[in-house]
Amino acid sequence: MTKPIVLSTWNFGQPANEAAWKVLSTGGRALDAVEAGVRVPEADPNVTTVGYGGRPDRDGHVTLDACIMDEQGNCGSVAGLEHIMHPISVARKVMENTPHVMLVGDGALQFALESGFKKENLLTPESEKAWREWQKTSQYKPVINVENHDTIGMIALDQNGNLSGACTTSGLAFKMHGRVGDSPIIGAGLYVDNAIGAATATGVGEEVVKIVGCHLVVELMRQKHSPEDACRLAVERIVERQPKKSRDIQVGFLALSKSGEYGAYCLQKGFNYAVRTASRNALLDGKSHY
Ligand code: ASP
Repeated sequence: MTKPIVLSTWNFGQPANEAAWKVLSTGGRALDAVEAGVRVPEADPNVTTVGYGGRPDRDGHVTLDACIMDEQGNCGSVAGLEHIMHPISVARKVMENTPHVMLVGDGALQFALESGFKKENLLTPESEKAWREWQKTSQYKPVINVENHDTIGMIALDQNGNLSGACTTSGLAFKMHGRVGDSPIIGAGLYVDNAIGAATATGVGEEVVKIVGCHLVVELMRQKHSPEDACRLAVERIVERQPKKSRDIQVGFLALSKSGEYGAYCLQKGFNYAVRTASRNALLDGKSHY
């Protein structure tokens, strides 16, 4: 059994894992680890798909989505949240301090401000420049391609054998105002069942929502599929449903079992994920369907 262990999507997962590892390696709770971990790319202006520095929507608003889930099945989520650098921490407060699971838009902002979060401008000069460039050629048409998105999803198993997960994103660059993908949707962008395992997703959220991706991955693990196999079967579900479309988009799943076994699978080559244990600190390539 490998524990503690933390996994996260993409190469910005490595510095995020480091922050999570500080919590896990000192006997801390997986929930605290995943929150601390994903706060790293949220605050990094050079990560253009998460938090501060995330690309705005087509109207120039940086709107953020995040969710978190603990070992007891509690969860919290925010979507379309503006002006707050750490949506994951707001999602955790929704989970812990309200009777609800999800707050969106102005209501999420109001709750964040009441909870003591600072209102900030999240549109960096670089993001504004990229948006102005996009405006020149886009004709205000939102596009989905393999480049204009990427989310940090993080899943962890702590010393006590408990699982938790967190997922946070600015979503698709230059999306329609109000667009929400899979990342803040429990069961789609993230799912944790402390008896079985945890999964998180990245890529075109619309396709992940349509198959309730991460819940599917965890249910496949319940049926005794390995984490990699469960991720592969979820990817194949997308291909079966939309063989043509699946060639042009990216979706990746990452999963961790209760025993610390892990795996990933994606549609296109190019999805990588970071793993951190006491003996391993690596960036690995997910196997791909195409
Ligand atoms: N899943 C995210 C979304 O659709 C984007 C990504 O992870 O690439 O908002």
